[in-house]
Amino acid sequence: MLTRWCERVRRSGELTVFADASAVGWSDALRRARHVFNAISWSAKLGVRLIHSTEAPDLDAEARGDSAHSGADVHFCISGVAFNTLEGRTRYRANTDAPEIMVKAKITLPTPMVSAGTGISDREAGDGVKMVLALHELIHACGLGNREHTPLGGDADVFCGVFDSIKVNSIFREDDTIVKGKIEFPPATLNLRTLNFIRTNWR
Ligand SMILES: [Zn+2]
Repeated sequence: MLTRWCERVRRSGELTVFADASAVGWSDALRRARHVFNAISWSAKLGVRLIHSTEAPDLDAEARGDSAHSGADVHFCISGVAFNTLEGRTRYRANTDAPEIMVKAKITLPTPMVSAGTGISDREAGDGVKMVLALHELIHACGLGNREHTPLGGDADVFCGVFDSIKVNSIFREDDTIVKGKIEFPPATLNLRTLNFIRTNWR
């Protein structure tokens, strides 16, 4: 189900994203995710750009009805490390008077860990993998729910349901990829179906 952002955010055409201290190891991945999204958004006229913010959101302020500025729209945080967990979670905070309208979103992701081979210690997956995971959750933060996930098939994009696995590059962690069916990400692709959902929700 699509969830609409509040009028103020939709009119601005900007979704501000704050990453807290837990996400310090994700800053490059998050920056890349924003850039990829914004480049696609510009050419596909999605109506929303992702903007870096240094202001922690007050997740309850607008729900209480405060009109004062309440920080970034989206809170991005990391919940520790995990093997075989290739999914984050994006929760919406609604306006108390209009429960169907989103006023804040919170993204929580685990840092994915991989085994790089015998005799080599486990390590974090590369930034390309993290970028894809972050981009997936940022698309949820645009108001797309699980029902909008891209169905299985040849046209898989970064907004497909659950990813299958991480393909580890034993030499360059930067070349790790995340796998869905026969497709590997990055590159971070968004298919027409996903683009249409975002554009519709930001019209
Ligand atoms: Zn998802």
